[in-house]
Amino acid sequence: MNRIDFPILGREVYKRPLIYLDNAATTQKPRCVVEAIDEMYYSVNANVHRGVHYLSQRATDLHEGAREKVRAFINARSTAEILFTRGTTESLNLVASSFSEAFLHEGDEVILTVMEHHSDIVPWQLVRDRKGIVIKVIPMDDRGDLDLEAFKSLLTDRTRLVCCCHVSNVLGTINPVKEIGRLAHEAGAYMLVDGAQSVPHFPVDVQDLDCDFLTFSGHKIYGPTGIGVLYGREELLDKMPPYQGGGEMISRVTFEKTTYERLPYKFEAGTPDYVGSYALGVALDYVSSLHDEKSGLRGMELIAAEEAELTRYAMERMREIEGVKFYGESAQKTSVVAFNVFQPDGTLIHPMDLGTLLDRLGIAIRTGHHCAQPLMQRCGVEGMARASFALYNTKDEIDAFIAGLKRVVKMF
Ligand code: PMP
Repeated sequence: MNRIDFPILGREVYKRPLIYLDNAATTQKPRCVVEAIDEMYYSVNANVHRGVHYLSQRATDLHEGAREKVRAFINARSTAEILFTRGTTESLNLVASSFSEAFLHEGDEVILTVMEHHSDIVPWQLVRDRKGIVIKVIPMDDRGDLDLEAFKSLLTDRTRLVCCCHVSNVLGTINPVKEIGRLAHEAGAYMLVDGAQSVPHFPVDVQDLDCDFLTFSGHKIYGPTGIGVLYGREELLDKMPPYQGGGEMISRVTFEKTTYERLPYKFEAGTPDYVGSYALGVALDYVSSLHDEKSGLRGMELIAAEEAELTRYAMERMREIEGVKFYGESAQKTSVVAFNVFQPDGTLIHPMDLGTLLDRLGIAIRTGHHCAQPLMQRCGVEGMARASFALYNTKDEIDAFIAGLKRVVKMF
């Protein structure tokens, strides 16, 4: 689907056609996104806000227009709730830093899951060191589904926040974040959803999820690197102190006292990445505009359906290979397939060896701990190989991946 829009997919590596299966790490960019970046620098560039001149106003309109596109894309109530950040990691650090300042005291509890990315673990450990909070962890079963009964037993009257990835970047599990959020709210806690791996793969509606925070990165949804989003419920953001101080985020400064700008600017100190925000808006327009006449599906619904079929096909074909073990076989799963291959005597073929040999065949997968070391420990391994699919991948590419994998496994 639409491969022609992604010029990089036409290139070769080691004189072989590139087969890019590392989309959970970052996606390739359609021509319209690259051109948007060019256009911004070639003919619009000027610092946003405050400017009285034409270019500044035009850049501001494009930047704020992108904010509105993000709002509509995730169905937030207002653009006051859409904060631009550098990416999911910065969004999570912003919440950890600022939410904890406003709402967390010694002995308060934050609940994470065993499958969180390091970026949703380490910031909370920094808060623990600073404030003496308690971190609790929701366990999972062997298929990669969270244990909701265990979660219920972790909730106490000291629980202030539950943080859960919408989709695991390793297992691909789509977590029941709406239900988890409902239980969190019933217990008087707030709910943060890390949407880094969900927003690029299926429709996400923050009002339907009824979450208090949602994070995602532009580069994983066909947009540029260096731009991301934090959605926050307005009444919470209002109560939270600024994350950083500087220009843009103030209303009035004297040496005695500073008052802050209204939302969302209170959280956006310094010159924002208006080139990145504009290009992210173009990426969101791009995915929204996709449609398939045969199925009648559009936008994110279409992406979800196409990727589900690719994933089903890939896992079915991988089962042909003896010794393949999957990590993450939830019934609710996106297009991330983590696996290892074991030899008949039980010896693990090191995922790094698999990845390196596949690379020589032009096939890009990811190997290692995937920034989820606690999850690796839970699965009893140091690392895994991971193939992850995006809207432009094809069954032919999966066939080439399977042929490559069979060839590599035979070498051991
Ligand atoms: N959370 C999840 C679930 C992720 O997959 C990632 C990226 N691998 C992140 C957070 C961090 O995103 P970024 O590196 O774009 O800040």
